[in-house]
Amino acid sequence: MKRTSERLAAIAPSATLAVDSKAKALKAAGENVVGFGAGEPDFPTPAHIVDAAADACRDPKNHRYSPAGGLPELKEAIAAKTLRDSGYEVEATQVLVTNGGKHAVYTAFAALCDPGDEVIVPAPYWTTYPESITLAGGVPVVVDTGDETGFKVTIDQLEAARTERTKVLLFVSPDNPSGAVYTPAEVRAIGEWAVEHGVWVITDEIYEHLVYGNHEFASMPTVVPDLAEQCLVVNGVAKTYAMTGWRVGWMIGPSDVVKASANFQSHATSNVCNVAQRATIAAVSGPLDDVEMMRSAFTRRGATMHRMLNDIEGVTCLEPQGAFYCFPNVTGLLGRDVGGRTASTTLELADLVLEQAKVAFVPGEAFGAPGYARFSFALGDDDLEEGVRRIAELFS
Ligand code: PMP
Repeated sequence: MKRTSERLAAIAPSATLAVDSKAKALKAAGENVVGFGAGEPDFPTPAHIVDAAADACRDPKNHRYSPAGGLPELKEAIAAKTLRDSGYEVEATQVLVTNGGKHAVYTAFAALCDPGDEVIVPAPYWTTYPESITLAGGVPVVVDTGDETGFKVTIDQLEAARTERTKVLLFVSPDNPSGAVYTPAEVRAIGEWAVEHGVWVITDEIYEHLVYGNHEFASMPTVVPDLAEQCLVVNGVAKTYAMTGWRVGWMIGPSDVVKASANFQSHATSNVCNVAQRATIAAVSGPLDDVEMMRSAFTRRGATMHRMLNDIEGVTCLEPQGAFYCFPNVTGLLGRDVGGRTASTTLELADLVLEQAKVAFVPGEAFGAPGYARFSFALGDDDLEEGVRRIAELFS
């Protein structure tokens, strides 16, 4: 008899892990490694949020179990925040508080997918989506996009991928890893397509506040109100408030789906840590000044990285419109001689650059997009410039 279930045995090891563990090992050995791998802000969590958590620690009511689906005050605060930031009016009964956005993603697929149900996933995709779809019993149907279309999926592509088993479209804007932001008109067209064909949309809005220049975030159920009955919104505090370690996210949807998901959560995890939930009340109800400060730092860093990457011969990089990633096409670096070694895939390139320049990035293979590479610009300006300079020197 096999030791692990087929369900777990089928989970692919993360392609990012090889590079990541090697980078960590080099750092531990005292090497000066510049890491572009992290998907998290380098800022500390704003002080008023930390203070709310410290207060919550001292209040014994937070030492006890609370409702599995989330503190009622937090669900109210999330509903109010959603109206404030997205113009989407929802009731507290439509909110489920989860252990991070990642848990909301998994719960959303588990809530909607029966075995064999198909979920359309545009690539490049955040590496967790296909795995959580498979775990939930669904079948990921990957639709490739590339830099020639700004990494955006078209209605024609969605139509070509649609079958009678299509249950869900996974949509994310601003996007990880490509940094693409769909225009409100594009969001509307996709939402209307979903309504017309009875396809559910899971829309991941975790990077909603991180948009640059004149790019604009639009929430799909706001621009297409008819979608509300077949839409789940996934969000969380991790990226907006520099709270990756606090593990609070949420899912918003029709109350029947949210209720079923809360039942599931009541057996799987029970409530999210009360202290983290209280911190989240302060985050989502508080001012957005710190968010604006971080956004302007990311704007500057993204512009620097974009310029410096494009200056490297063999690298072409679109302007990052949102999130905090550059996703350049680096196929021009493949096959080039570097100290007697060459890389023939971006997976090998990541390994080569880490070894020779002590710079870590995530190869496109991790996102279903070989030929590309993800560089996070959520790190200090000096490190950022130093890291890209080292790559430029390696290939000069
Ligand atoms: N969605 C996307 C697109 C992400 O990039 C991430 C974090 N990498 C998440 C969801 C989940 O974030 P968390 O679980 O930290 O809230």
